[in-house]
Amino acid sequence: MQEVQKKAGMYENVRQQFNKAADLMNLDEGVRKILSSTNSEIVVNFPVKLDNGKIEIFTGYRVQHNAALGPYKGGLRYHPTVDVEAARALAMWMTWKTSLAGLPYGGGKGGIQIDPTKYSQNELERITRRFTFALGDNIGPEYDIPAPDVNTNAQMMAWIADTYMGTRSPAERSACQHVVTGKPAGAGGLEGRDRATGYGVVITLKEWAKSAGTTLKGKKYIVQGFGNVGHWAAHFMALEGAVLVAVQDASVTLYNADGIDPVALLKYAQNNNDAIVGFSGAKEMDRSGFFGVDCDIVIPAALGNQITEANAGDIKAKVIAEGANGPLSVDGEAILLEKGVAIIPDILCNSGGVIGSYFEWLQNRNGEIWVMEDVLSKLEHKLADAYSRVARTASEYATDNRTAAYIEAMKRIEVAYKQRGIFP
Ligand code: NAD
Repeated sequence: MQEVQKKAGMYENVRQQFNKAADLMNLDEGVRKILSSTNSEIVVNFPVKLDNGKIEIFTGYRVQHNAALGPYKGGLRYHPTVDVEAARALAMWMTWKTSLAGLPYGGGKGGIQIDPTKYSQNELERITRRFTFALGDNIGPEYDIPAPDVNTNAQMMAWIADTYMGTRSPAERSACQHVVTGKPAGAGGLEGRDRATGYGVVITLKEWAKSAGTTLKGKKYIVQGFGNVGHWAAHFMALEGAVLVAVQDASVTLYNADGIDPVALLKYAQNNNDAIVGFSGAKEMDRSGFFGVDCDIVIPAALGNQITEANAGDIKAKVIAEGANGPLSVDGEAILLEKGVAIIPDILCNSGGVIGSYFEWLQNRNGEIWVMEDVLSKLEHKLADAYSRVARTASEYATDNRTAAYIEAMKRIEVAYKQRGIFP
């Protein structure tokens, strides 16, 4: 029941955030109508043979919100909370995110309603390949390009690419590996795409620190989620000299006032089914007290709607960097803004991931091989630029960072519609 409320909350949040920005910027009425709905919502039911020989039917989703600026782009999530409404909310966020980052993409999102921990690696491979086959021409390298999200990884992206390429004609095959991004570097992936989202979170925090006349050195922070985004964010925070005092994943909440070593924690999790429970370098604490831990920075990097009116008042930090998509409810955010907490909104804070994906797409499309150093420096440049545009818009409209980020994003889409017109 709690999960159902969380899903419904995400869509309601994105709608309320959109309406607030649309009102303030006086968004064109027609464009507002277009952006209020999705272009397509695809639901596929497909059979997979399990290791025990039995057939199970899985349900997969792909929501394509808007493609005014280019092909749909957005991740695939494997989680029990995935449904058409959750995918709709996440697809809308992708439209704003790609536009804000200045990319030639629209927004999409999807996934499978599944608890992947219940399936073997071989079963997950068959599920992923069959899902790709079921989506068929609803995805494509110049049409809709998935990427990793919660519980999906580079290996799964390689299976998607391989399945998609395998179903094309021989002449087309080698020219379509950019149907998906976030692949392993050896299979058409980009050096540095794995860390792009977490790196981007830390770049935006460095920009925040600069504007607050400080640095990240010695700052205490907490991270919710120790998956791709959470652990890479912690890795780069450590390089800045920041101190991780608490971390929570689906398995446990850990605390150590003297600091938790993110490198040792990652090594431990990698040998423990990606879970941090049982790590000896910190003590377990009650889950409900996590967001109230004394710190300067909170990095939510797990699921949506984690900070709400129920716990926003407990937060002691000065800044929230939204590594996750939609971690704050609208009511929770209002409490934080009232308290003067700075918020680096998801569509800016975690956009390093889709920017990295764009670089991978270009690399594949142009037959190039990019090196890590170039990837990270181009990423830093793009994020610093987006950060300063959001700050400028927030001051111009005398509004909060999230609304400013939405305004920046929607202006670009509005211009595209006005210049192109509506067919026929
Ligand atoms: P992941 O699957 O690699 O990791 C998810 C983490 O969240 C795991 O550590 C898991 O244990 C934890 N978690 C799950 N349920 C939890 C709960 N109830 N409480 C606390 N922790 C919980 O996923 P990811 O790719 O790191 O994505 C995390 C978030 O970042 C998502 O909101 C995703 O949409 C967003 N995001 C990811 C990317 C990317 O490139 N992977 C890009 C942009 C945004």
